[in-house]
Amino acid sequence: METLLIEDDDTIARELAWRWQQRRWRLTHAADLSRARELLSTTGRFDLVLLDRGLPDGDGLVLLGELRGRDAHLPVLILTAQDQVSDRVAGLRLGADDYLVKPFAVEELEARAEALLRRRESQKAQRLSLGPLVWVESQRLATLNGAAMELSPREFEVLGLLLQRAPRLTPKGALVDELAQRNRDADDSVVEVYISRLRRKLQGSGVCIRTLRGFGYVLERDAEG
Ligand code: CA
Repeated sequence: METLLIEDDDTIARELAWRWQQRRWRLTHAADLSRARELLSTTGRFDLVLLDRGLPDGDGLVLLGELRGRDAHLPVLILTAQDQVSDRVAGLRLGADDYLVKPFAVEELEARAEALLRRRESQKAQRLSLGPLVWVESQRLATLNGAAMELSPREFEVLGLLLQRAPRLTPKGALVDELAQRNRDADDSVVEVYISRLRRKLQGSGVCIRTLRGFGYVLERDAEG
């Protein structure tokens, strides 16, 4: 789990760096907005952002707006010395996940960061992807190149089962067993129907379902994808 700390106060940065190290969490530090933007565009993947508002080159809330345009789910915790209700509301309205007013105890920040990182971890576990295909269990949503797929609940489940095992083989028997737990009518021919519907919906997307006759199915990227 990788945290980005955007904070110009060296004391806070040093103390957090030490605490994160104790927990074997990774921490990257940026002392101003321009360095943060650089890190966000080059390093890319962070699991949590701790964002100070009063930075040498501007208000952290500006960056929060930019971040939300790119990733609606990246947890952001705002740090600020401005203990005013209007500031708090502005931050939350722009999509901050939490808010901590300075001066704060570092233990408090650590506890809140931990809660956000745990939430992020469980979100990640429920989100599967392969190339342009993304499957999010908690939202019962699958997307292809960002566009929602129209799937029945059973098709959604079968797609999830294939994705969980991709690029490995999913035996047909495993699909029948999984469906049978929810639907007594599940058998080989029912599975074949769902597979053929999914195949049609995935056509031309760069992801396909390959049949290994007598064994089962493999969800994989096809040559064009
Ligand atoms: Ca500051």
